[in-house]
Amino acid sequence: MSSNSSESEKVQFDEIKGKKLPQKFNYLKDKVAIVKVDDYQPENIKNALKSIFELLEIKDFFNKKSILLKPNALAPSKNAMTPPELITELIKFLKNETNTKEIVVGDSTFTKTITSLTFKRSKIKEKCEELGSKTINFFESERIKIKLDNPPHEIEEYIYLPKEIYDADLIINLPKLKTHEGYVYTGAIKNLFGLLANKMRMHMTHKDKTDFQRMLADIYFAVEETNDKNVPKVFTIMDAVMAMEGKGPRAGKPKKIGLMIAGFNPAAIDIVGYTLMNGNPSDLDVITSLANRTSLIIDINQLKILGIDNYEDFIVKDFKKPKIATVKKDRIPKEGLRSKISEKMTRISIKIKRKNCLLCEECVNHCPAEALERKNDKIIVDRGQCIECFCCGESCPNDAISAKFYLFRILPVILVILAIGTFALIWFLLQLITSFF
Ligand code: SF4
Ligand code: SF4
Repeated sequence: MSSNSSESEKVQFDEIKGKKLPQKFNYLKDKVAIVKVDDYQPENIKNALKSIFELLEIKDFFNKKSILLKPNALAPSKNAMTPPELITELIKFLKNETNTKEIVVGDSTFTKTITSLTFKRSKIKEKCEELGSKTINFFESERIKIKLDNPPHEIEEYIYLPKEIYDADLIINLPKLKTHEGYVYTGAIKNLFGLLANKMRMHMTHKDKTDFQRMLADIYFAVEETNDKNVPKVFTIMDAVMAMEGKGPRAGKPKKIGLMIAGFNPAAIDIVGYTLMNGNPSDLDVITSLANRTSLIIDINQLKILGIDNYEDFIVKDFKKPKIATVKKDRIPKEGLRSKISEKMTRISIKIKRKNCLLCEECVNHCPAEALERKNDKIIVDRGQCIECFCCGESCPNDAISAKFYLFRILPVILVILAIGTFALIWFLLQLITSFF
């Protein structure tokens, strides 16, 4: 498939560092299909997939392609992961309705063992195998070193991708719309982090949250570097039927939005996703980094939304987002007192809820900064070491870890000090007044 002539002309103006942006990034880049889905009943998912393919007119796109499905397989709970029903219905749909060559499913979470267990306990492995599709644990994959060239990298010049990603003709990215207590939001772009095996190193190398989020966008461009066609290699179908609010990405609460969101530019999908969470997409570096490099305007009103009349009807006004900062680094003063105060105000603090803690030490094992330690029957956080990545919360099986603004944690102390100060002042003034009489 090729873009029409007006798109080709536009390519000439989409230049970064003097290089023309490859044509593939313009393919349907601002089109997003949004379809209503009531629940995960197979029939409803099947109808939703049919609508997505019809709205975007992409049925032929999948012909003779080797396809890799990339779900979010964080933990074996329907609330935290891409529902197995969506994965299996998509495999059936592709097999029955399109002429695909091969379909496989791949992901990696914290470790090789945890990834295998998640595939097993969620029954993804069993169900996919029944349909003739194998599951791939990316921790077992051979790695191919990819150099980011056009558009150029922002953070990581080289990304090591699983060979299966390199070999596939098309990646269908299957994120779930969720909050994230470390980065506020996780969606289409962040889901590609599961392609990397060196996640702990990435967290430690890019402690700065802006850099980390830009690195996530680099992963997307690395995948597209493996594609020499004029059409993109990544297609996203986001599950927002039951989103997650509050303490995401693992221990949050389900929140019904009742939609599936699909398209080729992952930034466009995340613009829609974060808007539905009643957030401002321009606040998130992960979105701005990818959108800027694909010349996509970060404004939902500039997207061509297909399938629903008015996206505003679906914005969840009371969506509970994590109480952490979305303030972007470039908006924080670089030096002086204001810089110090801003830095303190935007820090998050990790808290362990002792009554929920099983002392399993998953968090200790998965903290890239070695900021957690078990001391007798307690998990202790070294706040000086913490890089605020929230890997601990993602790995905790029993909702025992939360993140909050550092300011919120110390607020009670500040209030007590203020109350004591006020009381002391009043007492002093009363003493002064009575000494005159
Ligand atoms: S992962 Fe959760 S339950 Fe396990 S030790 Fe850490 S805080 Fe406790
Ligand atoms: S304590 Fe948690 S948030 Fe802090 S560095 Fe370790 S894993 Fe990341």
